[in-house]
Amino acid sequence: MAGCLFCRIIAGEIPASKVYEDDTLVAFNDINPQAPMHVLIVPRVHVASLNDLGPEHDALAGAMIRRAAAIAGDRGFAARGFRTVFNCNAEAGQTVFHVHLHVLGGRPMGWPPG
Ligand code: AMP
Ligand code: ZN
Repeated sequence: MAGCLFCRIIAGEIPASKVYEDDTLVAFNDINPQAPMHVLIVPRVHVASLNDLGPEHDALAGAMIRRAAAIAGDRGFAARGFRTVFNCNAEAGQTVFHVHLHVLGGRPMGWPPG
């Protein structure tokens, strides 16, 4: 989608520190990491937020979640623990309106989240 930051990263128009990609997903390091591991997993298809996911995206959503666990596991966080977050719309702090899964690890995570 024109003007979407993450579509531009996926297209290679804006550089990013990619850690994984396949036919449906791209994962890259967050530019402003909130933990020693802070990866964003984004679908190649433009979907603005969780509110816009339909049943046709069920496999995609599952792939995002499973990829989060795989990336965390590769970094040694499977047993220790890690945090996954989808921010949805303003009150949750979503700033980029291309759905993305935050994967954070490497420090204790507080609850409830801020
Ligand atoms: P959210 O606030 O949930 O929409 O998350 C958006 C995330 O994108 C934030 O954690 C930002 O630090 C991150 N971000 C913004 N621009 C870039 C970029 N060019 N490369 C990587 N991450 C970015
Ligand atoms: Zn997009």
